[in-house]
Amino acid sequence: MKITRITAWQLDLPLHEGSYKWSGGKSVLVFDSTLVRVEGSGGVVGWGEVCPLGPAYLPSYAAGARAGITELAPDLLGAEPTELMRLNRRMDALLKGHPYAKSAIDMACWDLLGHVAGLPCCDLLGGRYGARIQLYRAISQEAPQRMAESVAAYRDEGYRRFQLKVGGDPEEDIERIRATRAVLEPSDKLIADANTGWLMHEAARVVRAVRDIDVYIEQPCETYEQCLSIRRRTDHPFVMDECIDGLTPILRGYADLAMDVANIKISKFGGLTRARAARDLCVELGIGMTIEDSWGGDVITAAISHLAHSTPEEFRFTATDFNSYVTRDFADGAPRREDGHMVASSAPGLGISPRVDELGDPFLDLKL
Ligand code: MG
Repeated sequence: MKITRITAWQLDLPLHEGSYKWSGGKSVLVFDSTLVRVEGSGGVVGWGEVCPLGPAYLPSYAAGARAGITELAPDLLGAEPTELMRLNRRMDALLKGHPYAKSAIDMACWDLLGHVAGLPCCDLLGGRYGARIQLYRAISQEAPQRMAESVAAYRDEGYRRFQLKVGGDPEEDIERIRATRAVLEPSDKLIADANTGWLMHEAARVVRAVRDIDVYIEQPCETYEQCLSIRRRTDHPFVMDECIDGLTPILRGYADLAMDVANIKISKFGGLTRARAARDLCVELGIGMTIEDSWGGDVITAAISHLAHSTPEEFRFTATDFNSYVTRDFADGAPRREDGHMVASSAPGLGISPRVDELGDPFLDLKL
């Protein structure tokens, strides 16, 4: 089989809550997503998506994703879409770095492979574990009491895991952690995610001040070394996210016992092929995982569901249903949250069918 056509669209995804705020005063009002459709010989089609969390979160931005896809696409026409490792090596030879730009193409080829094989991606990624995937809810950074109210409201919708956006003023963050934990049951899980927002002295004060509270600490500081220094000063379970972007940081983190949980964002690794390798390595090393992406709509949520559902349950700390945060759905068959959980489709590929007539004009449409 050959790739015979690559088409891509830009898509705005507004938020139900109007905005999403996290450390350092950063915020997003409307997510800028990019959809890719890869067509193979005989007309079989696969879909992928990439959606950076604005331009100032990871070293990725929406226009950069589109520039990268536009750069790669002409040289991918004629390539074999079902040989994922070869395809990734070809993308790496064409464009150094920029893993997020490659992510949507890789994801689309996994969807296409599933259609060729007649199997859901979940099966191709290792097999389905358990009946459903437990989700977390990200709680946008607001005043402590407002965040506690938000946690209580989402708890009523069935969520039992909450990722609190901290990384702001340390005193206020301590309040945020205390106020939200107070509205939870002992079996609920609370993660204080600073998204690199604290300096070491601030993080050290926060973890000491909440020592009596059952809370996970996620990516308190900017660098791996700074996070490791906080890890060594606290007995809270510890999550690494932004600085874990490949297999090497996972191996280093394992050697240093730097984290209990790693956050596997699909586009941070460059697509499902490399996210799966990271997932499999974490399973071998005994590291729990949050399975997600930087953000996204229906296609990314479907991809998360397949990677998460093919992860052994004891390693699946939590996952995200990003499409429930945004007001726009554009694909039939996408996972829909039920009682704080989602399920990977049992249809072939990612199990989604974007409604092309709702997408507008593509910014890229190349044929062999
Ligand atoms: Mg995080």
